[in-house]
Amino acid sequence: MEEIPVKVAVRVRPLLSKEILHNQQVCVRLVQNANQVIIGKDHVFTFDFVFGENSTQEEVYAVCIKPLLVSLTEGYNALVFAYGQTGSGKTYTIGGEDSASVAADERGIIPRAIQELFHHISEHRNINFHVKVSYIEIYKEELRDLLDLETSMKDLHIREDEKGNTVIVGSKEFQVECADEVISLLESGNAARHTGTTQMNEHSSRSHAIFTISIHQKQSAEYQNAAQDSISSKFHFVDLAGSERLAKTGNTGERFKESVKINSGLFALGNVISALGDPKRKSAHIPYRDAKITRILKDSLGRNAKIVMITCISPSSLDFDESLNSLKYANRAKNIRNKPVVNYNPEKDRIDEMEPEIRLLQEALQSQQVSNQHLHDLNEEKGRVSSLEEKLTRLQVQYFSYRNCVDEALLLLVDLNDDVSLRRSQRDRLQSWISMVQKVRKEALTVQETDTGTETSPVPHHITVLQQKRDLEKCQQVLAMNEELFSQKNHEVQILQNQTKALLQEKKEQQEFLKEAQETQRLQGYTSPPVLFLAQMTEFHIRRQIILSKLEDQDKVLHCHLPDQSDEEEDNTRCEEKTSYKCSINQTWTQNHASLCFLPDVSDMKHQVDKSGLSNKSALQTDTNTGEESDSLQNSHVINMQKLTNSELRLAKTEQKIRKLALNMKRKEELIKDLVRTGKDALSVSWQCSLKISQLEQEIEQAKTQLSETQKQLQEPDSKELRDIPEKVMLQKECQKKTEAAKLKVQKREARELAQKVAQLKHQLSQIEERLCEESEKKK
Ligand code: ADP
Ligand code: MG
Repeated sequence: MEEIPVKVAVRVRPLLSKEILHNQQVCVRLVQNANQVIIGKDHVFTFDFVFGENSTQEEVYAVCIKPLLVSLTEGYNALVFAYGQTGSGKTYTIGGEDSASVAADERGIIPRAIQELFHHISEHRNINFHVKVSYIEIYKEELRDLLDLETSMKDLHIREDEKGNTVIVGSKEFQVECADEVISLLESGNAARHTGTTQMNEHSSRSHAIFTISIHQKQSAEYQNAAQDSISSKFHFVDLAGSERLAKTGNTGERFKESVKINSGLFALGNVISALGDPKRKSAHIPYRDAKITRILKDSLGRNAKIVMITCISPSSLDFDESLNSLKYANRAKNIRNKPVVNYNPEKDRIDEMEPEIRLLQEALQSQQVSNQHLHDLNEEKGRVSSLEEKLTRLQVQYFSYRNCVDEALLLLVDLNDDVSLRRSQRDRLQSWISMVQKVRKEALTVQETDTGTETSPVPHHITVLQQKRDLEKCQQVLAMNEELFSQKNHEVQILQNQTKALLQEKKEQQEFLKEAQETQRLQGYTSPPVLFLAQMTEFHIRRQIILSKLEDQDKVLHCHLPDQSDEEEDNTRCEEKTSYKCSINQTWTQNHASLCFLPDVSDMKHQVDKSGLSNKSALQTDTNTGEESDSLQNSHVINMQKLTNSELRLAKTEQKIRKLALNMKRKEELIKDLVRTGKDALSVSWQCSLKISQLEQEIEQAKTQLSETQKQLQEPDSKELRDIPEKVMLQKECQKKTEAAKLKVQKREARELAQKVAQLKHQLSQIEERLCEESEKKK
C-alpha cells in the first residue's frame, strides 16, 4: 500500500478594493517556480502548490481538485479543506458563495467538481452510478443540517460504522441524478448558512461547513464479470471557520466562549494534523474525539483519503501575524501521510461476514419448510378423513335402505316358504338364504352393541350430525341478523348522541346569553334605567320562544305519541296532567331539550323493527327488546321532565332575583337624585350667604365713609379758629351724638342681620341634617 502525503496549497488573494483604498501594503511574495511563499522579510515556506493573486478558480481546481475527483471515481475517498483567517478567501475558493452573485468563471471548487463528476458519469454508461449529497454545518460544536433546517440539532449524531466509516445519523442525504440538482442543493445550503443569523458574515466565518458527495458505482449487468465489485467513495469539501486568534478579535463574554469553541475545533484539527504528521507518534493516540470536525473527518484524515489542504492568506501587511500563523499551520499538515485504498463495496464484505448467519437462516428456513410440509400433510389427511366420512355417511344411508329391502324380502320369502309349494332344491336354497340373513342380522346386532356399548340410540349418528349442522346454520343466520340489528342500533345511538350534543350546546349558548344580559344590566347600572333591562328580558323571552318553536317544529316527539300513552289519554285526569306537562315542556324546553331528543327515535326504532321482516321468533324477540328500550327511554324522559321542572324553578328564582335587583337599582337612582338636589340647595344657600356678606361689607364701607366725613366736619371748626366757643362745644356734642347714633345704628343693624342670618343658617342646617338622616336610613 503506497503512502502518500497530504498535499498542501497556499492561495494568496489580491488586495481587496477597500484595502487598496486604505493604502495597505502587500507583505507576501511568491516564488512560483519553487512553490515558495515569502512573508515579511525572511519567512520562507515551501508547499506543494502556490497560487498568487492572479491565479484563477479554474487553475486552482485543475491543479488541486481534478486529481482528487479522478481518485473519487476510482473508488478513493477525497478531502479538501480551506484554512485561513476570516476574509482570506476560503469560501470564495471552495465555492460556498451565493452563486447568483458569482460569475461563471469565478465559481469555486464544488460546482466545478460537480460538473466534472456528472460529465464523467455521462461518459461511463456501462457503470451504474448512485450519487448522494449532504451539507452539514458545525457551529459552536453543534451540528446543523443545511439541507433540512427542520432537523433538530439533537437529532444529528456522529457515529462510526463497523468498517470505521463516519456517518452522520439523522442528516438528510439526497439522491441526485444530475449536476443541476446538486448545484441547487448546494445553493439552498449556502443560503441556509448565510441566513442562519442576522449577522450573516459573522456566523458563516464562525462555523465549519462540510459538503459531501458520496458515490456508489457498479458495472451494469451486461458488462459485469465476477472479478469486478461495486465501489463506494466520498468527497468532503470543508470550509473551515476563520482561524484568527482570540486576541485579535478582542472578543469578551459570550463571544469569547464562542470563539473558544470555534478555535477548539481548529485546535483539535491542528493537533490531529500534528499527530498524524509526526512519524514517532504514528501509532500513538490521535485525538479525533476532541471536536466534532475531527470526528467527522476521522475516516478521511487518518486513513485512506487523498487530501488537499488549501491555506488562504491575505496579502495585507495588517494581516501579517495571521497569515504567518496560517502558513505555519499548513506547514505541519505537509507531514501527514495517508494510505489511500480503493473502497470496494462494503456490502460484499458484509455478505462475507454474514455468511454463517445466512447459513443459519437457510437452515431455519429449511426446517420451517419441513414443518410446513407436515402441516400440508396434516391438512391433506384431514381432507381425506372428511371425504371418507362423507363416503361412510353415504354407505350408511345405502346400508339402511338395503337393510330395509332385505327385511321386506325376508318377510315376503318366509310367507312364500309357508304358502307356496316349492321344489325341494328351491326350498333348500330359500331356507339357506333365510338362515344366512338371520345369521348376518345377528352378527350386525352384536357389532352394533359392541360399537355403541350400552348406548342404544335409535337415531343414526350421521342423521344427528346433519340435524346439528342445519341447526348451526340457522343459529348463524339469526346471529348475522342480530349483528345487523345491533349495528343499526349503534348507528341510531350515535345519531342520538350527536343530537344531544347539539342541543346541549344550544342550551349552553342560551345560558351564556342570559348571563350576558345580566352582566349588561349590571354594567349599565346607573345610566341605564331598569326599562332597558326589562326590554332585554323581553327580547330574551322572544328569542327563547323563537328557538322553542323552532325546536318543536324540528322535533317530532312533541307531535308524536307513544302507543301506551295514547291509551291513557282517554282518561281525563291523565289528559289534564299531560297538557300541563306539555306546557311545562314548552316553558323549559331550552334548558332541557337535550334529553328530550331520545323520544322520536323510539318510534323510529319501533318502525324499523316492524319493517325488518325477521323470522317470527327473532321478530318477537326484537319487539320485546324495543319495548324494553322504549320503557327505559320513557324513564329517562320522566327524569328529564323532572330536571326540566327543577331548571324552571331555578329560572324563576333567578328572574325574581333580577327583579329585586332592578327595584334596588331604581331606589338607588332616586337616592342619587335626592343627593344631587341637596347638593344644589347647599350651593344656592352658600351663594346667598356670600351675597349677603358682600352687601354687609358694602354697608360697613358706607358707614365708615360717613364716619370719616363726620370726623372731617369735626376737625373743620378747629382749623377755622372758631369765634364762638359755646357754639363749638354744641357742635362737637351734636357731632359726637350723631357719630354714636350712627355707630349704634350700624351695630344694631349688623346684629339684627347677623341674628337673621344665623337663624336662617340654623334652619338650613337642620333641614340638611334631616335629609341626611333620611338618606342614611334609605341607604340602610
Ligand atoms: P473567507 O471565507 O475566508 O472569510 P471570503 O471567501 O468570503 O473569505 O473572501 C472575502 C472576500 O475576498 C470576498 O469578497 C471574496 O470575493 C474576496 N476574494 C477572496 N479570494 C479572492 C480571490 N482569489 N480573487 C478575488 N477576490 C477574492
Ligand atoms: Mg467564509
